[in-house]
Amino acid sequence: MRLSRYFLPTLKETPAEAQIVSHRLMLRAAMVRQHAAGIYTWLPLGFAVLKKIEQIVREEQNRAGAQEMLMPTIQSAELWRESGRYDDYGKEMLRITDRHERDMLYGPTAEEVITDVFRTSIRSYKDLPKILYHIQWKFRDEVRPRFGVMRGREFLMKDAYSFDLDTATARHSYNQMFVAYLRTFARMGLKAIPLRAETGPIGGDLSHEFIVLADTGESEVHCHRALLEKPTPEGVDYDADLQPLVDEWTGLYAAADEMHDVTKAASLGDDLVTARGIEVGHIFHFGTKYSAPMGATVTGPDGDPVTVAMGSYGVGVSRLVGAIIEASHDDAGIIWPEAVAPFHVGLINLKVGDEGTDAACASLYDALGPDRVLYDDRDERAGAKFADMDLIGLPWQVIVGPKGLAKGVVEMKNRATGEREEISAESALARLSG
Ligand code: ATP
Ligand code: MG
Repeated sequence: MRLSRYFLPTLKETPAEAQIVSHRLMLRAAMVRQHAAGIYTWLPLGFAVLKKIEQIVREEQNRAGAQEMLMPTIQSAELWRESGRYDDYGKEMLRITDRHERDMLYGPTAEEVITDVFRTSIRSYKDLPKILYHIQWKFRDEVRPRFGVMRGREFLMKDAYSFDLDTATARHSYNQMFVAYLRTFARMGLKAIPLRAETGPIGGDLSHEFIVLADTGESEVHCHRALLEKPTPEGVDYDADLQPLVDEWTGLYAAADEMHDVTKAASLGDDLVTARGIEVGHIFHFGTKYSAPMGATVTGPDGDPVTVAMGSYGVGVSRLVGAIIEASHDDAGIIWPEAVAPFHVGLINLKVGDEGTDAACASLYDALGPDRVLYDDRDERAGAKFADMDLIGLPWQVIVGPKGLAKGVVEMKNRATGEREEISAESALARLSG
């Protein structure tokens, strides 16, 4: 993409309303614009990152055996009356009345919708297990929307739902999602630690939150240092028994502040890490909480009806954009991990209009392709170009000017380390294409 044509209205000033670094940088780097409290428009740069994150989530869900579908954003209140949540949900639910005076709502989550699809479509235990998911916008009328996309009112969530015949197989579905989450966050360059979470009114159920460590996180967490150093599971066979792997991850001490066991934590000594964190995912096994009141049953092996055991598994896709920035930035701007970067390379032309420089840039641009390179071909001061490129945080910069070209070199800069190297345009191309 040529920057002269790209819609990238970066800001020089730090917007006063933004309290945390990711929000400031997302506004300055022209990733989002606020439309109303907690509601954002995603501009091209922000949207490109959102899509990359979404795609990683999708690939890891598919790998674990979950199937993608798409449920509506606007839901009928009737289903929520059946599950009993219509009155319980409170003011966070945005309630809408249509022209026929029917009660509708903007979905804050989709347990009721998926349970309804399930009960009208699946009749036999032979069709189990199933894990279905979608990546769809949600609305929750949060009391205090803040921190930009991290606590929005409208936000993009991946929510998956599992259906099993009994608790033992439901546990396997849960473990599949648990492992998929470890892989998903690691692929984005994040350290996410699983924390045993409170499950609310239904005791005895199983739930974990996945927390990314960042100073601005809303929750305080305590964990064993070894949890931060564990390598990501590779080459996972999702059909195999995943319990030993999950036990390895849940066997080490990790607790949110409210569940923190001070005595146990103290026994860890120097191995105890206390930090702040951002919740990027949350998985639940809740058994028959929705399937029982909504009548989601299948015919079991002996011919009797069985109420299915369910779980739900959320990832905050749009929150992750902010969380990654919280975890990866410096004073100059964002530092995108390669896997989620909107472009791989920023190409800076130091002398637009100079025939040799223009030609060298054009040939690099063509060779790398417009999807991988953001080419700063604007007639601007070098300083402004450097500042914008650092701000938007692409992993690599290639800086091309007449002085270097006279020596047969361009400059290649690694955004994360700041390392600079003078190499030939051909070598730069070879490295960036690798
Ligand atoms: P929180 O405790 O942060 O309010 P939650 O427990 O209400 O979140 P879940 O229902 O578990 O959220 O939703 C699944 C995921 O969706 C969360 O882990 C989080 O990453 C994301 N999420 C929830 N609420 C918001 C929001 N208001 N803005 C952005 N992302 C959100
Ligand atoms: Mg949660």
